[in-house]
Amino acid sequence: MAEKLKELKEKLAYKSPHVWDKLDEDEKKAVETISNDYKDFISSSKTERESAENICQLLKARGFHPESDTRFFRVFRNKCVAAIVAGRKPVYEGVRLIASHIDSPRLDLKLHPLLEEEEMAYFKTHYYGGIKKYHWVALPLALHGVVIKNDGRTVKISLGEEANDPVFTVCDLLPHLARKVQGEKKLSEAIPAEKLNVLVGGYPLPDSEEKDRVKLAVLKLLHDHYGLVEEDFISAELELVPAGPARDVGFDRAFIGAYGHDDRICAFTSLAAILNLEAPPYTAIAIFLDKEEIGSDGNTGAKSRLLEKIYYDILKTLGVTVAPDTVLEMFYRTKAISADVTAGIDPFYAEVHEKLNDARMGHGVVVTKYTGHGGKYGANDAHAEYVGWIRRILNRAEVVWQAASFGKVDEGGGGTVAKYLAYHGMDIIDMGPPLLSMHSPFEIAHKADLYMTYRAYKAFFEAEE
Ligand code: MN
Ligand code: MN
Repeated sequence: MAEKLKELKEKLAYKSPHVWDKLDEDEKKAVETISNDYKDFISSSKTERESAENICQLLKARGFHPESDTRFFRVFRNKCVAAIVAGRKPVYEGVRLIASHIDSPRLDLKLHPLLEEEEMAYFKTHYYGGIKKYHWVALPLALHGVVIKNDGRTVKISLGEEANDPVFTVCDLLPHLARKVQGEKKLSEAIPAEKLNVLVGGYPLPDSEEKDRVKLAVLKLLHDHYGLVEEDFISAELELVPAGPARDVGFDRAFIGAYGHDDRICAFTSLAAILNLEAPPYTAIAIFLDKEEIGSDGNTGAKSRLLEKIYYDILKTLGVTVAPDTVLEMFYRTKAISADVTAGIDPFYAEVHEKLNDARMGHGVVVTKYTGHGGKYGANDAHAEYVGWIRRILNRAEVVWQAASFGKVDEGGGGTVAKYLAYHGMDIIDMGPPLLSMHSPFEIAHKADLYMTYRAYKAFFEAEE
């Protein structure tokens, strides 16, 4: 009887295996190889601009060329990239699109950032995206970004990543004096945004009667090194991000800890998938978007008409005559993945998770039918037919995947670019690896999930049906 029940369970019940139980030794080596490549990528891709630049470099190195009509790419405002591989079938029969985002939560400099208090110089900041402000105090920060000078020249800055570079930091109050001003407040109010000021200097200029001698000394250094004057900050995009490279985590090195897994882990794995693509059945697009973390607004975000521009551009490049409804038809026949991370179950915060329906670390790429919050509000909610198709191609390619949603109903929620791309008429579903500590300065991904995410995206691009 016991045998019979076991047999029945085997036949009927759903089981989500651990990726590690499904891999042979060669595949386990492949996990380590792609993890190392990814660590290199994410350690040098600290901003959307740096990510876009690195993506373009990797595309060029693998034979993608802006002038080609089979493997080509486009860059938009230095913050968005679209990589395209022409398919064997005519492009109007359908497109396979994977959309990720390359912006991450961080501290942006204000327009007038520099000030001096108590003979110390500080940068004032405005945080970007959903951060827990207490994460951003008392840790080493690096400064990345660009400054557009009055004469139009661009000055690039990346300071704080090399071993000998100085770093920057937001100071926190010592516990001895923090009992009332922080300890008695709600966590979300203990560190107000206007206290996220970054320490940038402490030597005063000598022999000066001037006020603000430390601030002036910092301005002089910035002028000597980068040719900057204070007004240049107004036309700059300078971001403070956690300093230092991605690291292996755990005795067994099963995890990667890094800033910006959300969503550069999906950017990297979808890039790897399209880099390795040769003559796919359908035209494949990997698009790397900006501004997801602040609602996908702006002309580099998923809410813009950028995607239409890309589709017209592809038609032109492939020499297809465009009728008034060609692009609309193409959108309608597009199958898409919103490549984004999701929350992995944190065993010590079980109260926010729904264990049957949330994602497990190490159990593979996560297929998320709907995101949104309370009553599926703001969700794309992929159609069952499309989920069925996705399920079939993943199973056929022997990808280890799991289906999950995002915490308990009414606990919170979140969104991705899925609903903005669905607006164009395409079928789209969320798919990506689970993370721990998402939106923190040190997010955690499981290497086996990284590998399966890559395998899933590749299977999607290569699917014949
Ligand atoms: Mn994301
Ligand atoms: Mn996010």
